[in-house]
Amino acid sequence: MSKEQEVFEQDSKDYLPVFNRYKIVLEKGEGVYLYDTTGKKYLDFLGGIAVNVLGHGYKPLVDAVSKQAAKLIHCSNLYYTEAQASAATKLVKLSGLNRAFFCNSGAEANEGAIKLARKYAHGIAEDKEEIITAWESFHGRTIATLTATGQPKYQEGFGPLPKGFSYVHYNDIKELEEKISDKTAAVMLETIQGEGGVYTPKDDYLKKVRALCDKHNALLILDEIQAGIGRSGKFFAYEKYGVKPDIVTLAKGLAGGVPIGAFIATEKVATAFHAGDHGTTFGGNPLACSAANVVLDTVPTESFLKNVQEVGRYFKEKLLDLQKKYPTAIKEVRGEGLILGAELNFEGREIVNEVLKKGAIINCTAGNVLRFIPPLIIQKSDVDEVIRLLDEVLAKK
Ligand SMILES: *Cc1c(COP(=O)(O)O)cnc(C)c1O
Repeated sequence: MSKEQEVFEQDSKDYLPVFNRYKIVLEKGEGVYLYDTTGKKYLDFLGGIAVNVLGHGYKPLVDAVSKQAAKLIHCSNLYYTEAQASAATKLVKLSGLNRAFFCNSGAEANEGAIKLARKYAHGIAEDKEEIITAWESFHGRTIATLTATGQPKYQEGFGPLPKGFSYVHYNDIKELEEKISDKTAAVMLETIQGEGGVYTPKDDYLKKVRALCDKHNALLILDEIQAGIGRSGKFFAYEKYGVKPDIVTLAKGLAGGVPIGAFIATEKVATAFHAGDHGTTFGGNPLACSAANVVLDTVPTESFLKNVQEVGRYFKEKLLDLQKKYPTAIKEVRGEGLILGAELNFEGREIVNEVLKKGAIINCTAGNVLRFIPPLIIQKSDVDEVIRLLDEVLAKK
């Protein structure tokens, strides 16, 4: 039996079967390429789902993590570390907010943000507890965050779900205006919807949401777990849309692949939490923060973000060209920077499989939206390669 076959069999026997996996065993990565155990090379246009923002094997990241691992991997939040303090200071400076907290994943970051918003709102009025989120959103897999996630398929079978969540259609300001009230604790939205199919905010939507929140003394929580960390072309996607949230959540790309999550809040909101109100054993440990520090020193620089903007614009143009060439296959091209989507008129999994066979890793979300969330270091030549493969595959459809 081949080494690969052995892994497939072990997994099918012993691993909880919750993932629809592609049949390759990955072994190493270098820049924008991944290699499987047979030595086959893949151009990576998924980046571990918007995680590997600096690509694979990025030397300063590998060095920082190796050095930190040799010194101190973990020590508990009962003590201070330089790595954590420094990462928090960087996030506060970049966000224009005041207090950062580190955890281990996106779901945990949103869970913390929901707790903070509820605690803050209960300080205003006992019945101020409603959290409004959007249909087609994605906020995580814990019980509270799957309830916040406006997609019934993630909720079915997990009841009873926590009370106090309701949903509006993203980009529909009228509906929010009707739903929001003085009982609303927070409106929680992805700045750009990722998992739901790459939807960007239209016509000053977020500014209007901000104004409605202010009117009702409700908090605006922006989930930038996928769209943040430079992916939109700005470090925080909300900078693009001229709004500032009360709480922003991050994870995915924040430590370039090392598990981490974070939420950052204004001083006013943060005062709702006192010692003991929230916590974590692993969150913000020196290993994860040493990685985050490299990302936070690299991604927000002008030249780095300029690359995201330029390559992103180029990529979108090329996708629009493909749409012109295959108008019956591609319905719409959406997105900003390096979070791009091409909605197909049919299910996308077969296309993803065909492209994989030809040597590139792409993704399909929401059933029929090809989603591109590559490492942020890709070049135009990498875009050309993926477009060439897509062209070949679509030509045969
Ligand atoms: C991935 C994602 C999450 C959940 O993050 P996990 O680390 O998988 O818990 C939450 N919100 C958004 C927008 C995401 O893309």
